Amino acid sequence: MDISLHSGLVEVNLAALKSNWRRLKAAAHGAEVAAAIKGEAYGLGLGPCAKALWEAGCRSFYVARPLEGEALRTILPEANITVLDGLYPNHSAFYVKHNLIPAITSVDQAQEWARDGQGKPCTLHVDTGINRLGLSIADYAAILANHPTLNIAFVMSHLACSDEPDHPLNEIQRQRFDDVRALAPQVKASFANSSGIFLGKAYAHDQARPGVALYGGNPLPGQPNPMQPVATLKARVMQIRELSPGETLGYGASWSPSHPAKIALLGAGYRDGVPRKLSSRTIDGPAQIYVNGKRCPIVGRVSMDMMGVDVTQAHVQTGDWAEIFGQHIPVDEAAAWAQTISYELLTHLGSRYARLYVE
Ligand SMILES: *Cc1c(COP(=O)(O)O)cnc(C)c1O
Repeated sequence: MDISLHSGLVEVNLAALKSNWRRLKAAAHGAEVAAAIKGEAYGLGLGPCAKALWEAGCRSFYVARPLEGEALRTILPEANITVLDGLYPNHSAFYVKHNLIPAITSVDQAQEWARDGQGKPCTLHVDTGINRLGLSIADYAAILANHPTLNIAFVMSHLACSDEPDHPLNEIQRQRFDDVRALAPQVKASFANSSGIFLGKAYAHDQARPGVALYGGNPLPGQPNPMQPVATLKARVMQIRELSPGETLGYGASWSPSHPAKIALLGAGYRDGVPRKLSSRTIDGPAQIYVNGKRCPIVGRVSMDMMGVDVTQAHVQTGDWAEIFGQHIPVDEAAAWAQTISYELLTHLGSRYARLYVE
């Protein structure tokens, strides 16, 4: 791919993606490991990521929207594809046509699928405490009673706090899900997301549905990341400018050097998903980028198309590439600087970057 007309580059390491899937498979206590691949594989690109995961051995995929399911179906003709949004009313035919499994979240959806789903599988999504989409336990019992011939692929539920292993809600949800399972012990169960896999065997059930950990996010906040980085975001040094004390950089004239400084202007900004919150941080030290072996502070305000970096201490030339996160700056570290989470940095990667998929 010709990247000479691009100011920014997202490198997606598909070998790392596959290795992360295998790592989670080894940690999942024998459960099947599906992939949450909603939002274009958390922003990294649906087609290449889906194919790589399939090659690694993944056979089940979770999307959010039915249209995401349709897109994935054209890429993976034989995969199990579940739509987390559930069944959009009066659209059973769409799900049947594209062989999509609705994750049913209401009694009405169950009724429609029993009538129009042509005997195809559905998943029943029961809420156990996150209070997002999902059936009550009573609804689940009623569906089992009223639709005995419903083809149920899985009963599933979703954890609210799995990234906080000591949070009491984990155990509450786990017990409720055990109660749910007891209503129909023969139905297979899908429970853990990325962090949930690391909560122990009692959380494993028959299938896990990790997302962010596949894409390199740390499922164990505060501990070393067992996953490999998958996405590396780089921006080109477009120009280098010498700044003296008293001069200011960028909008708001918000930053001024204390010594003569060398500033690199990088070709990425908030339109490209670089959080404006990375601008000249004063609390807990500045946000950083990595260039030619050195970490350098982000200075001044991140603007729409560019950002400034103090490279006084580094050997940097126009045309060099600086890493915003990836191999050297963990995505979780960059996210923390911006007071957000790795999920948001990944899913906000802009459309103006070149995309390079490497094995
Ligand atoms: C997004 C999502 C997942 C994956 O969660 P991660 O925290 O990224 O592992 C699993 N299940 C449901 C219902 C989801 O919405």
